[in-house]
Amino acid sequence: MKDDNFLKENNARHLWHPMGHPGDAQETPPRVISSASGVSITDIDGQTAIDAVGGLWCVNLGYSNEVVKQAISDQLQQLPYYSAFTGTSNPAAIEASHAVREFFAEDAMERVFFTSGGSDSVDVALRLARQYHRLRGEPTRTKFLSLKKGYHGTHFGGASVNGNPRFRHAYEPLLPGCFHLPAPYTYRNPFNETDPATLADRIAAMAEDEIAFQGADTIAALIVEPIQGAGGVIVPDASFMPKMREVCDRHGILLISDEVITGFGRTGDWSGARHWGVQPDMMTCAKGITSGYFPVGATLVNGKVAEVFETADADGAIYSGYTYSAHPVGAAAVVATLAETTRLDLAANAAARGTQLHEGCLRLKDKHDIVGDVRGGHGLMTGVELVSDRGTKAPMDGATMKRIHQATWDAGAMVRLGMHNILMSPPLTITEAEVDAILTALDVGLSAA
Ligand code: PLP
Repeated sequence: MKDDNFLKENNARHLWHPMGHPGDAQETPPRVISSASGVSITDIDGQTAIDAVGGLWCVNLGYSNEVVKQAISDQLQQLPYYSAFTGTSNPAAIEASHAVREFFAEDAMERVFFTSGGSDSVDVALRLARQYHRLRGEPTRTKFLSLKKGYHGTHFGGASVNGNPRFRHAYEPLLPGCFHLPAPYTYRNPFNETDPATLADRIAAMAEDEIAFQGADTIAALIVEPIQGAGGVIVPDASFMPKMREVCDRHGILLISDEVITGFGRTGDWSGARHWGVQPDMMTCAKGITSGYFPVGATLVNGKVAEVFETADADGAIYSGYTYSAHPVGAAAVVATLAETTRLDLAANAAARGTQLHEGCLRLKDKHDIVGDVRGGHGLMTGVELVSDRGTKAPMDGATMKRIHQATWDAGAMVRLGMHNILMSPPLTITEAEVDAILTALDVGLSAA
């Protein structure tokens, strides 16, 4: 390993960092995280903080799970790579598909298609949705509905259904035939509707209207996050996802639940859709599927979708796949992660600690005028929206957000900035004392505004 001076000098010299301006990174090089343990990360200057981001909504088991590390290491010795693209299979992938299917049995998921991450999983889901309708004799169903504020990755498919202009504009034109409904975001919405249930009704009515306008026979799928993550932790009313399910059923539209963040316990239940009492037709997963220890994603389909493919003629062949599809090391990580996730009952801890974090943030809202809205309360996904004026809801400026971020880090917690939101999604193994430490650090950070 090169010394710290080399790392600092070269941090942004040849390395382009995602989601930021390369010039900014050269001017203010990103913090270099060099080690991690439990729920904490340490940078090359030796400063340690609780990782309230959980890597990127993904390190559900924390950084020290020896079972998963050992499984990865053992698999590297046994079979470090073989491709499922070539018409072969491998023992770890077979076991992993079984484990994932078992994990989501209550969600009625029946088949598992492994990918290399969330963006891949979304693209595969969109592709399979079109193919499903084509196989059923409805080839005109090619369009997609999604929600504003939604995030579905950065491949062209995911970017096309994304609902944040930031991830779209530089890359347009995107996939044609993608239409966006309002987000179930009570703090800001086009109707100024503050009642979550009424807002859910209004969005369902708009979905009906859009479907009538486009023609139901042109729409393949609706893709939604059960709780919108990157968009600012936008928690819908409990009626919202069931209503979306009803609308889809009425019009023969597939419902894709993007569980890249919400799967594997983060919401306090094993899937976000289950949290709202809904069974989707497809689910997209990544992140917590390996606790972030290895890049793996998965697209899951229910029996209805599976049957159409499995009983079709040659057109039922799935021409999606990756060099790393069903990677044996990733698959071994999946098997170990799911076993550990279940053994440690992470959903229960996420529910309890999520309530603690949410209630603590509500107390910070009482104390700090710059907190406009606090969202969460459904597992370990918490969003704190900062404003420069509570009356006008003017978003907090970027320089102040950065100052708050730095002060929170200095006080012992790494949080994430999503525009003018502070986003938190710590490891699901976090303890009560560690959540308190995050809240204390955030209090200090907010005081630095
Ligand atoms: N879908 C959702 C809901 C996500 O939150 C993300 C990433 O944060 C993705 C898809 C994309 O996943 P990845 O970054 O692994 O490609």
